[in-house]
Amino acid sequence: MLARLAELGLKGHLSEGVERTIIGVVGSVFPELQEMLEAMEGVDDVVRVSKPFKLSSREFQPSDTTIQVGDVTIGGQEVVVMAGPCAVESEQQLMATARAVKAAGAHILRGGAFKPSTSPYTFRGMGEDGLKIMAAAREETGLPIITEVMTPSDIELVARYADILQIGARNMQNYMLLDEVGKSQKPVMLKRGMSATIEEWLLSAEYILSQGNRQVIMCERGIRTYETYTRNTMDISAIPIIKRLSHLPVIGDPSHGTGKWYLVAPLALASVAAGADGIMVEVHPNPDHALKDGAQSLTFENFRQLMAQLPPVAASVGRRVGTGPQRVSV
Ligand code: PEP
Ligand code: MN
Repeated sequence: MLARLAELGLKGHLSEGVERTIIGVVGSVFPELQEMLEAMEGVDDVVRVSKPFKLSSREFQPSDTTIQVGDVTIGGQEVVVMAGPCAVESEQQLMATARAVKAAGAHILRGGAFKPSTSPYTFRGMGEDGLKIMAAAREETGLPIITEVMTPSDIELVARYADILQIGARNMQNYMLLDEVGKSQKPVMLKRGMSATIEEWLLSAEYILSQGNRQVIMCERGIRTYETYTRNTMDISAIPIIKRLSHLPVIGDPSHGTGKWYLVAPLALASVAAGADGIMVEVHPNPDHALKDGAQSLTFENFRQLMAQLPPVAASVGRRVGTGPQRVSV
C-alpha cells in the first residue's frame, strides 16, 4: 500500500490502532484516487479528510497520542506538571528550583537557556552553559527536562541535552525550524503563536508531523487581545477545541497566558478542568529578582499550594495527578 502510494507520488502515514490501521495519504490527490484505493485488498473504507490539517486530526487518528518521556506519559490518564523558571540564571537558582518543584510533585523541569525576547536588551539566556545546568538538575532529581530551541542550527546542540524541545510562541510559524524539529527524534512542544488561530496552530503541528516526528505536544499560552490588564488572554476554550479536533496532547501555560502570578493557579486549575493533559508553570526562588518573567512566576510556596489544589480538580474530570518520576540519585 505504502509502496503503491509512493509510486503515485503520494506519502502514506501509518497509524496503527487496536482495531484498525489508518493510513493518512498526503500529497496532491486526484479524483480517481478514492476508487483506486477502495479497490485495493485490505481497504475497508476511504474517507476524505476535509480539514486542512490531516495528520494532526482525529479523523486520521481517533485515539489520543501518548508521549513517553522517561517515566512520564503525556496525554494519558495522568495530568502532567511541568515547572521551573522562565530562564536558567545560575546553577544555584536552577538547582534550588528543581529540588523544590520535584518535592512538590512536578513531573518535568522547565527552564530556558536560549530565550526569545521582545527586546534585545533583556536577558537572552545562558546558552549551552544553561543546558548543562538543566542536565545536572535532571541527573540529581530524575526529572526530564524541556527547553526551547530557537533556530535550526541549535537543534542538534539542544537535543543533546533536552528530553523535550520547546518551540516558542514567536517561532510557531518559523517553518524552517518546524521542518527541522520534525526530523528530530525528540518530542516537541509547540506553543501557540500569540496571534495564531487554532487552525494555523494545527497547521504548524502538521509541519512537524509530516516530517515524520509524531511526538508533538500542543501548548496554549494565551493570545493577544485588546485586554491590557493581563499580558495575554488565556484561551481556555482552545484546550477542548484541540482535544476535539486533534489526537495530540495539550498543555495549558497560565504563566504566559496571564502574566500575573496570582492568576496562575486559577487558570492552571481551569486548564485541567477544561481537559488539558497537563500544565506548565513558571517557578522562581525569588520572583522579585528574576531576570525574566518574575511577575508571572510562582514562589515555591505558591507552587506547593497549587499542587495541593490540583488533584481534586483532576479527579472531577476523571484524571489523576501522577506521583512523578521515582528515580532520585543521591
Ligand atoms: C517561555 O516558555 O518562557 C516562553 C518564552 O514562552 P512563549 O514562547 O509562550 O512566550
Ligand atoms: Mn517565560
